[in-house]
Amino acid sequence: MAKGKKIGAAGRFGAGYGKVKKRLNDVEAKQRKKQVCPFCNGRAKRIEKAIWECQKCKKRFAGGAYHLEQNS
Ligand SMILES: [Zn+2]
Repeated sequence: MAKGKKIGAAGRFGAGYGKVKKRLNDVEAKQRKKQVCPFCNGRAKRIEKAIWECQKCKKRFAGGAYHLEQNS
C-alpha cells in the first residue's frame, strides 16, 4: 500500500482548511480529468481559460474555465 494522506492534492496546504480542502480536491480532479469533445467524442485539451481544442477533430469550443461542461 502506498503511504499518503487521503486528502489528496490539497494536502500541500497543510492542516486547518477542512471542507475547503475537499472542495479544492474536487475542482482539481476535474481539471486533471480528460475532457471529451462534444463533436466527435475525441479528447479535448484546454488551451486557454475556457477554450478547449479537440485533439482529434481540431475543433475549438468554449467550456468552463477550469473544466468542460457538457450542457448543450
Ligand atoms: Zn473532436
